[in-house]
Amino acid sequence: MKTQLQGLGVLALIGCLPLSTLAHEGHDDSEGHSVLELYKEENLVKPIDIVECDLADGSVGECYRVHVQSTPLDDGPYCPESLDETGGIFIYDGETRSGLRVMNRAFFEDMEADGYDIIDEEGQLRTIDLSLSRGDKTPPEAAPSKGHCVEVVTDRSLTLTYTIPVNPTIAEDVRAMDDASDIVGLSFNGLPINGQPPTVSGGVDGRGTGAGNVPALDACGGHINEGFYHNHIFAETINSKYDRHGIDEVECTAVPQIEDNELIGLAMDGYPIYGREADSGGRPTELDACNGHVSATAEYPDGIYHYHAKYDDIVDIPDCLSGTLADRPLEVQ
Ligand SMILES: [Zn+2]
Ligand SMILES: [Zn+2]
Repeated sequence: MKTQLQGLGVLALIGCLPLSTLAHEGHDDSEGHSVLELYKEENLVKPIDIVECDLADGSVGECYRVHVQSTPLDDGPYCPESLDETGGIFIYDGETRSGLRVMNRAFFEDMEADGYDIIDEEGQLRTIDLSLSRGDKTPPEAAPSKGHCVEVVTDRSLTLTYTIPVNPTIAEDVRAMDDASDIVGLSFNGLPINGQPPTVSGGVDGRGTGAGNVPALDACGGHINEGFYHNHIFAETINSKYDRHGIDEVECTAVPQIEDNELIGLAMDGYPIYGREADSGGRPTELDACNGHVSATAEYPDGIYHYHAKYDDIVDIPDCLSGTLADRPLEVQ
């Protein structure tokens, strides 16, 4: 098993090899600080500080400490109050009209057609509100064969501290970011960007109640299911995604929208993350397995390694990180 995993690591590394030779030595401090100023002060609990930090490769470096409140923006709605209303969105992986879907009657009826029992005997949507303060992580086991539209009660009482290297470096191995609880980065709106969301066929993680449960996303592509509000689709460019998918029933209004070639935030390894388009527009070229490449950008005219949102995928978050992370990227208080 171990050799197999190591083999995979080597394969992944080969996918990224050109980076280690081309990689920028990390941006200088003045550049770094100006990018840092893009973090919206009103969404921070206190100013960003720079501290000495342990990095995952065993070295010691300098890190930003970014303090944000859990759920810094107006979130929701998630599940619709009734089948006649529209809630948030989900990425449906069932048979009938799979893909990016608005949570409305048509969506839940398609789920029923696919064999998921999410509309009850009275014709009402079966929903469940989990509460993190009650320690709920999964829907109750009472009705394991039933599906639920799942949402989590908003809790703004937590402070999340993200530790992000000031001078990013390419790591020996890429770090997979394919789990819903993996934190890929932090947008300048103070929104954590997580890995692949849970699916309808896989359901909410945990017990045998998985399949058929829908951990609803709001119109900005986020939810609270893995502990606090985070995005599974980049919120800052989601409205242009709705346009491309012909969706006009929902719109992200809580997060200011930016152009698809603009800077969204920092990855947890300190490299910048841009929207799906190259600096000059169009599809970025020569992207590696983590959807990153070295190229000049508006903020880094001399060139830097950076990530892009995935061009065609609904879940547009990169699948892995190329750089070295802090030893403890996130602390929750
Ligand atoms: Zn999630
Ligand atoms: Zn680029």
